[in-house]
Amino acid sequence: MVRKECPKCTRSSYSSGTREVWNCPVCGEDLTAYPSLRAISYYELNQSIRQSAYHHSPK
Ligand SMILES: [Zn+2]
Repeated sequence: MVRKECPKCTRSSYSSGTREVWNCPVCGEDLTAYPSLRAISYYELNQSIRQSAYHHSPK
């Protein structure tokens, strides 16, 4: 999942993949040329790594 942040209205929009055309759902700004960001935050990523490490570690 990827995210783009609109430079015009600063709202984020999400997509499950790469779109050919990506318009801001709020103001209609063309975001196609803007770089896509990871939708998952660093904190969430860190948490999922910890959880998977926990599940795989022997007791
Ligand atoms: Zn916008």
